[in-house]
Amino acid sequence: MSGHPEMYVDTHCHLFWDDFREDTDAVIMRAREAGVTRMIIPATNLETFEQARAIAERFEGVYLAAGIHPHDAGEVTTADIETLRGFLSHPRVVAVGEIGLDYFYDFCSPATQQRILHLQLALATEHGLPVIIHNRESDEDLIAAVREHQDGRMSGQFHCFSSDVQYARAVLDAGFHISFTGNVTFKKSVLDPVLSYVPDDRLLMETDSPFMTPVPHRGKRNEPSLLPVIARRFALTRDQSTAHIADITTRNAERLFQLERKQDS
Ligand SMILES: [Zn+2]
Ligand SMILES: [Zn+2]
Repeated sequence: MSGHPEMYVDTHCHLFWDDFREDTDAVIMRAREAGVTRMIIPATNLETFEQARAIAERFEGVYLAAGIHPHDAGEVTTADIETLRGFLSHPRVVAVGEIGLDYFYDFCSPATQQRILHLQLALATEHGLPVIIHNRESDEDLIAAVREHQDGRMSGQFHCFSSDVQYARAVLDAGFHISFTGNVTFKKSVLDPVLSYVPDDRLLMETDSPFMTPVPHRGKRNEPSLLPVIARRFALTRDQSTAHIADITTRNAERLFQLERKQDS
């Protein structure tokens, strides 16, 4: 047993969401008290990047990802991609994200989603940044896209992982990290085998706030202070201590997103 409290990084929380507008400060203070001292806010489009940036600039330990979510890929112009490129040099930006494919909803066609994804994967390579990948019912096209851009240097996070062990193996082989949310605590979850399968050095944690609220807080808004609840499920399923979970996931987040280097900026 270590004497000091466990520390966590919430690698995916949408603190710009309307749900947080009234009490952002309290949410961040509560997170810190729970040991969640660092958070990454992935934008979903240009507008939400500006909102996320305003939060990150007010709080230490809050980082940003800039990207266009597949839900928002429909109306993207060349000028938008240029604006996004400019955002990537903000000192708190640690990744291109969140980007990806979502075939569950049809806000825009798979072809358009793929076009915008490829442009952003290229931007990540250009800037030497990791990517934060959103995947919903698009396993095959997504792994094909990242493989196409994998030149031995690309890294990133498959966030809110909900596929099977076989897909996890493909994602790991492609050089990526795997991240789970409160979905691992759901009664209907079938994620235990894949949660056990991911090796220590590729595992990440996230809340995906305000979504994916873990059991037993279902029905309420999710927030970063609930990350330790997810850690307990990681510990149980993987037969490891929560201290170990906190330690490995923190180190992985620091290494993948180079948090130390961005700390004082
Ligand atoms: Zn997502
Ligand atoms: Zn998200």
